[in-house]
Amino acid sequence: MSLVIKGGHVIDPASGLSDMLDVLVEGENVTRIGKDLSGDETLDACGCVVCPGLVDLHVHFREPGFESKETIASGSRAAARGGVTSVVTMPNTNPPIDNAGMVEFCNRRARETACIKVWPSAAATKGRQGFEITEMAELKAVGAVAVTDDGSDIQSSWVMRRVLEYAAMCDLVYMAHCEDASLMEGGAMNEGLVSTKLGLPGMPKQMEEIMIDRNIRLAALSGARIHIQHVSSEEGINIIRRAKEQGLQVTCETAPHYWTLSDEAVTRCGTNAKMNPPLREASDVRAIRQAIAEGVIDCIATDHAPHTVTEKDVEFQLAPFGIVGLETLLSLTLTELVQAGLVRLERAIELMTAAPARLLGLPAGELREGGPADICVFDPEAQWTVEAAKFASLSRNTPFEGRLLKGVVKATLCDGRIVYRQS
Ligand SMILES: [Zn+2]
Repeated sequence: MSLVIKGGHVIDPASGLSDMLDVLVEGENVTRIGKDLSGDETLDACGCVVCPGLVDLHVHFREPGFESKETIASGSRAAARGGVTSVVTMPNTNPPIDNAGMVEFCNRRARETACIKVWPSAAATKGRQGFEITEMAELKAVGAVAVTDDGSDIQSSWVMRRVLEYAAMCDLVYMAHCEDASLMEGGAMNEGLVSTKLGLPGMPKQMEEIMIDRNIRLAALSGARIHIQHVSSEEGINIIRRAKEQGLQVTCETAPHYWTLSDEAVTRCGTNAKMNPPLREASDVRAIRQAIAEGVIDCIATDHAPHTVTEKDVEFQLAPFGIVGLETLLSLTLTELVQAGLVRLERAIELMTAAPARLLGLPAGELREGGPADICVFDPEAQWTVEAAKFASLSRNTPFEGRLLKGVVKATLCDGRIVYRQS
């Protein structure tokens, strides 16, 4: 069986392709990209962009341990609905992914239940406790694509140094959630004017910035490659920019909520605007947007963090951190970055495909003859209103409910199979 995706604007940032072409899919692969192609079946892509399936380096699929929030199966369906065909899962499940058996468990569950590609990352310390280093060589041998203690940071600089040395030896990227836990003090949102007005305990930006700085310095000392996760503040960006100017091996990601919302959103959205790092001030939002335009930010990731309605429907301080993001990623990028004139469409797609794939060396994020048919077809002009009740995710925790966005995913293919099609 062959399928031709016809009449679309084919964009492949990895090769610089951006042209009106057809894409022929045979079996699991793209076999031809050209003009006037035909196949057994046709997918009409007139007015649509045809690009590589999106790659998201930061998702929480909650399996094992928290299957009422999300499973590998439901998370993969949410990804497909968002045009995402490759995800890197975080290891803060219960039990955590901190040994070879657990990485194999993830891979098996993904094979059995996921409709897209799931690449597990593994914990850097046992139980994510920040003390005892995991067997990274073994973790890598069974398929872990990176190491991270995401959800928290390794507090001891001595342990962090050893972790980074071992990660460098194993040629694994360390993905850093930067947080000085001693400054947490029950903090629930960004510390500033809004937290003071609301009478909520704050999390100062310095909590994040101190550890971005420390982690980059320790990575330089250890010769490790470090990737800073979900950077949220202006000074955090400045530290990363300086490190890059010095030629250090550092990359970073940010998430759509950090360029679209400030801490004011807590007033409107309540616990659905509670995440870690927290939404910062308007000046930080501007700095993040600027950093994306300048290229200081290497890629976009969602930090898709599902929680059930009952868990979020509590007093602000008691609610868990995190929001879902897979099904709004593409539209928030198109609406708030491309339409706003901050980046060109091709660059926006690169930030969600070739750039993250390259960062971890994943065989994904490109559209080429002979390569896997992981494809996203979307209408960049069509609009939709966010309705969490329609999400494929098991969770509904989004601050974007009711928001009118541009960009509708028409179809998603993974290894040549249609895994999502707009009905
Ligand atoms: Zn995190």
